[in-house]
Amino acid sequence: MSSAFDAIKALATGFATTFKHLFRKPITEQYPEYKRALPVRARARIILTRDPDGNERCVACYLCSAVCPVSCISMQSAEKQNGRRYAAWFRINFARCIYCGLCEEACPTSAIQLTSEFETCERDILSLVYEKENLLVDHGGKDPDYCFYKHAGIVTDAGKKGEHIGESEPVDIKSNLP
Ligand code: SF4
Ligand code: SF4
Repeated sequence: MSSAFDAIKALATGFATTFKHLFRKPITEQYPEYKRALPVRARARIILTRDPDGNERCVACYLCSAVCPVSCISMQSAEKQNGRRYAAWFRINFARCIYCGLCEEACPTSAIQLTSEFETCERDILSLVYEKENLLVDHGGKDPDYCFYKHAGIVTDAGKKGEHIGESEPVDIKSNLP
């Protein structure tokens, strides 16, 4: 008896939901004439950003490429005379990218970021291979104030040992005997 009652109750609840939606104003977005602003956390087209001084953030550490589940990131690392590493070339194949955001999560320098720009479809699949010049922008994206080299403790033009943010002066390890 109770199972029959439960079934009728479930049926009534379902019909009530349908009935309620019959009188709601339809929400139709006239895309592409109207483009709804997506939240900052939306995951679409990827960019390579710069630090507040205008330098390239990417240090070509390969972490994004290692974590990418579809292996669509490749690059070649290089080093400048001032000690900063950079990507001599950097390539993303957007025909493979699944926009999972793992590359952004893994990046220690906040260089690689996903944006809300999702209109990237192309008929020619090879045009979805983006080179560094297609990816590098002239701003810091979601993290405009961060500079990896000012925190990293690596000697570059951004600071010597002990001069970085939150870093202590180096100790003489020979004076540190038990
Ligand atoms: S969003 Fe995901 S699939 Fe796309 S490049 Fe980053 S890690 Fe790879
Ligand atoms: S984008 Fe970030 S994770 Fe990828 S190589 Fe550059 S610094 Fe490393």
